[in-house]
Amino acid sequence: MRGVIMHAPGEVRTEDRPDPAIEEPTDAVIRLAATCICGSDLWPYRGIEKVQDSPMGHEYIGVVEEVGTEVRTIKPGDFVVGSFWASDNTCVICRAGFQSRCVNAVPMGAIGTQAQRARIALADGTLVATPGTPPPELIPSLMAASDVLGTGWFGATAAQAGPGKTTVVVGDGAVGLMAVLAAKELGAERIIAMSRNPRRQELARHFGATDILPQRGDEGVEAVKELTGGVGAHSVVEAVGTQESMLQAIRSTRPGGHLGFVGVTHEVALPGMELFFAEINMLGGPAPVRRFLPNLIQRIWDRQIDPGRVFDLTLPLEDAAEGYRAMDERRAVKVLLTP
Ligand SMILES: [Zn+2]
Repeated sequence: MRGVIMHAPGEVRTEDRPDPAIEEPTDAVIRLAATCICGSDLWPYRGIEKVQDSPMGHEYIGVVEEVGTEVRTIKPGDFVVGSFWASDNTCVICRAGFQSRCVNAVPMGAIGTQAQRARIALADGTLVATPGTPPPELIPSLMAASDVLGTGWFGATAAQAGPGKTTVVVGDGAVGLMAVLAAKELGAERIIAMSRNPRRQELARHFGATDILPQRGDEGVEAVKELTGGVGAHSVVEAVGTQESMLQAIRSTRPGGHLGFVGVTHEVALPGMELFFAEINMLGGPAPVRRFLPNLIQRIWDRQIDPGRVFDLTLPLEDAAEGYRAMDERRAVKVLLTP
């Protein structure tokens, strides 16, 4: 089969890779209907995370081709959506809704789903079957559910976005835009998207942002305070992961408010005294996308949401290198790859 390998920073190629096979009795093998490039794939691409000859990709939807002998609920022919951590969905952590930290979690990034086929560990716990074979127009939205929508949804849920509340989203990448969509669906009254990019501002408005602020850092905090009676927002989602964006998010949250942080942090160090006096609720980390998948798939199936709009470039898997370049140069918000 064909699959994407990152040999070194900036060096991505689609090449022949061994076909996956069932290795454990709880595995499934899927044929991908679509895959995509994640904002987090840019960290190794830019040399900020170490990389050497790594298979890439952790987002996937497709058709089950084969299952191991212990797989009970998923069967060949099912169209399935999974997320970036395989999980058993039965352990005490999974049952509490934190499948991304399952005691038996398997990282899908190590498998590399930017490929024609993929082995999925813990298939019964990890994969969620759609109600039927999706029509082509739903493919991008189901693809978004695999990571960015689920991650944005977790951010908005952790931030307790809801009726009567103001939600601020720091970060206008795909996850930030999906957090805007989630806050809207969860009933937030006012949604403030922090963005200075006209195309992303337009998408944020499409997904439900009521206000757009271009300021960053402490200027961004001041602008949020001006819109919130000087006290900050009830609910803030951080979707970048830098020192500046984390502090901006913390400082934009009112005392007693909630911050959901879902940007993978790089070199972030938080001052303890400031955290102490911020007096806010914080929950973040790798999103337990599996918790939300049945709900998100149903909303997509019912045409209630169209998260697939976040993909603004579609390329064949063979042209993955161009997709990485487009995202690195911010010519594309998110790239869908067709295998
Ligand atoms: Zn578990």
